[in-house]
Amino acid sequence: FTRQCRNMHLLKKEAYVDGKWIKANNNAVFSVLNPADESVIADIPDMNDADAINAIEAASKSFKTWKNTTAKERSHILRNWFNLCEKHSGDLAQIITAESGKPLAEAKSEITYGNSFLEWFADTARHINGEIIPSPWPNKQILLTRQPIGVVSVITPWNFPFAMITRKVGALMAAGCTCVIKPAEDTPLSALAAASLAEQAGVPKGVINVVTSSRKNAPSVGKVMCEHEKVGCISFTGSTVVGKILYGMAANGIKRVALELGGNAPFIVFPSADIDHALDQAMLAKFRNNGQACIGANRFLIHQDVYDKFVDGFKAKIRQKCVLGPGIKEGVTCGPLVNTAHVNKVADFVDDAVSKGAKVVVGGKFAKNLGRNFYESTLLVDVKPDMKLYNDEIFGPVAACLKFSNEEEVVKIANSTRSGLAAYVFTKDLGQSFRMSKNLEFGMIAINDGILSAAEPAFGGIKESGIGREGSKHGAEEYTDIKYTLMSGL
Ligand code: ADP
Repeated sequence: FTRQCRNMHLLKKEAYVDGKWIKANNNAVFSVLNPADESVIADIPDMNDADAINAIEAASKSFKTWKNTTAKERSHILRNWFNLCEKHSGDLAQIITAESGKPLAEAKSEITYGNSFLEWFADTARHINGEIIPSPWPNKQILLTRQPIGVVSVITPWNFPFAMITRKVGALMAAGCTCVIKPAEDTPLSALAAASLAEQAGVPKGVINVVTSSRKNAPSVGKVMCEHEKVGCISFTGSTVVGKILYGMAANGIKRVALELGGNAPFIVFPSADIDHALDQAMLAKFRNNGQACIGANRFLIHQDVYDKFVDGFKAKIRQKCVLGPGIKEGVTCGPLVNTAHVNKVADFVDDAVSKGAKVVVGGKFAKNLGRNFYESTLLVDVKPDMKLYNDEIFGPVAACLKFSNEEEVVKIANSTRSGLAAYVFTKDLGQSFRMSKNLEFGMIAINDGILSAAEPAFGGIKESGIGREGSKHGAEEYTDIKYTLMSGL
């Protein structure tokens, strides 16, 4: 499978700067691995801060013309890009599966999802409107217009290597900005493939630049991307730890930031809920992408009256639905985790919980027969607040359950985290739905559903889960400044 990917036309082995496919200035490279068998898919440029500066200069130069294109022109180019991604979705999906490990069917859904942002922002581009406000003075008018911020530094994670690019780049291009993308070191090939399709779609040179770098170079490249005077905004999706570093660096230049950081989502089930439905949704909220999603359910908070029923049902579903194996194999629903450091971290969460009294109902160990990066789909009960996985994002295939007895208590437990991204609530009580929507301190609340992402709603978190929103009309507005012009002497 790795060999098959290597031969694909869309598999680019160079970085993309100023409309050219190039090597690192010092010719350094790093290897991108297939997490399923750790084979090398490609060696690609390991760029450094000097390369990042060149890319920012290119983006800054192209901004001068891109900002003056009409919304209609930008809309057409985005739609061309959308069409090409759709046309090449088969190859794109293979690249995503090869480098991220996710099952091919999930890679295909990621393309549908990721591509929906290009389609959405192709439309949104033409609706980034200003305002005319009645003035407090005679003979004057107040105009508010939205102007593109400029060059955006885009730093993305490995869990949705295509969608995290389109969600940001679609929005910023619609607004009239240009960008430098630093994709995650585990999954740069999807970003390069997307850039190649953007090039074919007619995106002018310098509007999208992709700087690839290893983990070793990420801090120095990241520093330039946050501090360079020609950068107007930093758009980052990744861990809260790295988000805080970038936010700190952005502060010096008073740069705009858009941060999508870690979550610690509660999945709450009340006694009135349809338990079978809640279980189906729990499987999606937990095991999609093998738990490697910032909105993945982290703590299953189940009412004591339905706790045993829920746990029994969950155990049966996991046994029945979670089929571990390489993502390319037909029928597999859970692939490897992205790399060895990450699978070890997930295993450590489970060991810590078990050492503090949690009980393993299903799984709880590596699936070594499949390879180093595979971990069994796991269900834990008797989880308590002193356990690491209660407080931190698990980001893996481990469902952790605990019991509650009333609404007030569960709101308190759910909110007892510095994260505030997504929360899931299952209830048939209408009043309770509204109370939970109001009282849960999270940016996104799903009532009776386990999946909430799309291009239309506003995605984002509160507290330490981030700043700003992606998707919806707000997603494009993130990349604009409001300019106030006073028209006097009329
Ligand atoms: P994860 O834990 O999911 O790998 P990270 O937040 O570590 O998430 O990584 C997300 C992105 O941030 C990746 O592109 C990674 O290379 C980048 N990154 C990590 N550390 C830094 C840093 N110090 N400066 C800039 N980018 C960084």
